[in-house]
Amino acid sequence: MISSIRSYFPQRLSWIPTSRPPHEYFELAGKLLLKHEIPLSEEQISHLVSTSVLTKVDSFERHYFGPRCRRCGNQQAHFFATMPHASCGRDCTYCRYCIQMGRVLACEPIYIGSSNVKWPAPAHPCAWEGTLTPAQEMAADELVTLVQSGGGERLVWAVCGAGKTEMLFPAITKALQQGKRICLATPRTDVVRELLPRMKTAFPQVGVQALYGDSPDKRGNAPFLLATTHQLYRFAHAFDVMIIDEVDAFPFHNDPSLHFVSQRAAKPEAAVIYLTATPRKKQKRKIRYKKLPVTFIPRRFHGHPLPVPQLKLTPTLHRSLKKGELPTRILKSIAEQNLTHRQLLLFLPSIKKAEEIARFLLEEGYDVKAVHAEDTDRAEKIAAFRKKEYRMLVTTTILERGVTFPSVDVFVIDAGHAVFDEAALVQIAGRAGRSHEDPSGNVIFYHIGKTDEMLDAVDAILYMNRLGEKG
Ligand SMILES: [Zn+2]
Repeated sequence: MISSIRSYFPQRLSWIPTSRPPHEYFELAGKLLLKHEIPLSEEQISHLVSTSVLTKVDSFERHYFGPRCRRCGNQQAHFFATMPHASCGRDCTYCRYCIQMGRVLACEPIYIGSSNVKWPAPAHPCAWEGTLTPAQEMAADELVTLVQSGGGERLVWAVCGAGKTEMLFPAITKALQQGKRICLATPRTDVVRELLPRMKTAFPQVGVQALYGDSPDKRGNAPFLLATTHQLYRFAHAFDVMIIDEVDAFPFHNDPSLHFVSQRAAKPEAAVIYLTATPRKKQKRKIRYKKLPVTFIPRRFHGHPLPVPQLKLTPTLHRSLKKGELPTRILKSIAEQNLTHRQLLLFLPSIKKAEEIARFLLEEGYDVKAVHAEDTDRAEKIAAFRKKEYRMLVTTTILERGVTFPSVDVFVIDAGHAVFDEAALVQIAGRAGRSHEDPSGNVIFYHIGKTDEMLDAVDAILYMNRLGEKG
């Protein structure tokens, strides 16, 4: 999937600057910026352009079929619009595709910062003292080889809870020792927030930074960046090692421009590592035809199999949900679950339903909170749940991935709903049994009729468990 993007968007990046910027301009290294995003005066910018620290390019490239946005790669005509523009005094074309990152106008150039920067090369950057399992170690060795070689791509297909992050440490260490620049990109802000403290602890001297929509630190001038995939719109040929987490997840899965920008953010000779627990059909096909080298980890780090979901038919489910309630059968299961030592994650198909059911459970006397995409206190609530400050968390697919709680059971309410596709259900089931102390957990899909997605998810989990058993 990824390499084919090169042919869609041939990367004519001869305009990438090569001259070495002075130390104080690390903030510009490998960046692709609009003028107002550069915190310098007009004169300073001109000086940097004349010394090739910055290269000034037209924001739109002429292409056979019309303009192409240099920031997002869009060339679909219906994503270009015009507006009267005071600076140029006429109707000026702009790109609607990447407008959430600030407007790219035809009359305003884009600036590209030189990547020719000497990053520090610490001898012992990694402070992590844990040990890898044999499966993790095998994968780690393959990634170290990739980083050391002349670049290329590799997909790591690891079950939820395989310990992907730790498995990356040797490759990251090797890259840092060689003075390379690394970016770990993931589609979800929550995942970036969760990874930052872990990476800071593992690589204390490196000054790891996180970039996401409302991140407090926007400098992006460290040798090791964690970023949401959308932040890659602001980079060009910046990274020697590009790690793309959850390559199958929305929006990365559906947005060709994110593939374009993640390709462009990496240097042409970069090592590119894709991580996934639930590859899409396209990726599986590439693996089957040996077009994408793969590293496979079918076992969790603690060696126990994945919990297999139980499917429970609940005919009155929709009638109850319509009233903002849960059927007696599910309420009884929740009451029983509340007597155990585990916390409970309850997945609902929409924000509205999640809020209604959380309110209903609160009225029933449960210790419960709701978390969803539009919730501004999301990070705090998730942290409090992890510290076991309350028992039950009602949520949407926003928490299907990347977030780890030590000891939970997982109920999916209305598992036949269209938002719960195979990948989502496998990921959701993967929230249970994550810790050494409690390696199992109950996963229950409540439904009004089995769907193919549910059955495929169960099959995928059983398949992984069989592979894991064989070693
Ligand atoms: Zn654009």
